[in-house]
Amino acid sequence: MNSGDVSTRRLIDSFGRVHNNLRISVTDRCNIRCFYCMPADNVEFMPKENLLSFEEIERVVRIGTTLGIDRVRLTGGEPLVRRDLHVLVRKLAAIPGIIDIGLTTNGILLEEQAQDLRDAGLKRLNISLDALDPEIFRKVTRREGYDRVLAGIQAARDVGFSPIKLNAVSVRGLTEDQIIPFGKLARETDTVVRFIEFMPLDADSQWQRDKVLFAHEIMGRLEAEFGALRAIDSPVSALVHAGTTASLLTQADAATHAPAQDYEFADGKGRVGLIASVSQPFCSSCNRFRLTADGRLRNCLFSHDETDIKEFLRSDSADELIAEAMLNSIAAKKEGHEINTARFVQPDRPMYSIGG
Ligand code: SAM
Ligand code: SF4
Repeated sequence: MNSGDVSTRRLIDSFGRVHNNLRISVTDRCNIRCFYCMPADNVEFMPKENLLSFEEIERVVRIGTTLGIDRVRLTGGEPLVRRDLHVLVRKLAAIPGIIDIGLTTNGILLEEQAQDLRDAGLKRLNISLDALDPEIFRKVTRREGYDRVLAGIQAARDVGFSPIKLNAVSVRGLTEDQIIPFGKLARETDTVVRFIEFMPLDADSQWQRDKVLFAHEIMGRLEAEFGALRAIDSPVSALVHAGTTASLLTQADAATHAPAQDYEFADGKGRVGLIASVSQPFCSSCNRFRLTADGRLRNCLFSHDETDIKEFLRSDSADELIAEAMLNSIAAKKEGHEINTARFVQPDRPMYSIGG
């Protein structure tokens, strides 16, 4: 469908959302088994030959930049289990038009790789840690590794990633007791803790709404302990109406369209974030687009449709065909994820296979 001068085309969907942010999954493999993402055992991984090579990923990003992609984030599965990931980071950092490269990792292999990643041009790092209590960590991940994550966080700090950003999925009945310790960590160190609502993307399809620890509840607990929180960045203001005492100082963060609503404590000590994907969907400002490890374009985490571009990449097709595939995928993007409607159907692909 789309045609015209390549240099003026943009990834704009039918709701006017401009997409400049590509999340790239580099593998579906992982060294732990978080219950909200993967099955505990007997995981069926993609055949290795289906994984896009670094050169293939580089080409997709290069083509993406002609359509306005300027930020990428590497994810998975666990991206650090992909050998020599820093080589890919270096390739992407060298692409004209790419202004920001991020990585989301569980941190287990970070101690060994933090320096190489930093040197290669990685700008942002998010480390996932759902609990400061090692027992709860084990319950969530169903594996060992807590000490290695802590070592990875320290290594990230040592090589200059600052502030350290932690992602913590919040699950009712499991992580409530971690909220205050995380709040203390945020207040006492250069750590921004981002609490993420549990989303229906688990491999076992066990998600239930009553397992979601909602952002406003987390905020209520933090405020009861540490006093009022002030909103910074990002356009979501509705948490205020959800029963918290926050005084708002909202500045829309148009550059990043960050799904997190960040807050600082009223005394200026420390920062936390809330990613209210379920209770306060941010679909209307979504600027994200995804490439799975096996070469499929996905216009939404919750999409049921994908566009396979691996065959284009492996059959000497022109760049134009891949650009068209991107434009068409974005053109077909739906308005929102519909988790909060009776129509919602969980996608077949769980989080580890899509790339979070
Ligand atoms: N393995 C890396 C990690 O865990 O950081 C990167 C991939 S992981 C799929 C990306 C992010 O998605 C992590 O922060 C993880 O906690 C989050 N995540 C995974 N499944 C989720 C779910 N069902 N609901 C909310 N967040 C989820
Ligand atoms: Fe692995 Fe990340 Fe999924 Fe946990 S959330 S199982 S670390 S891919």
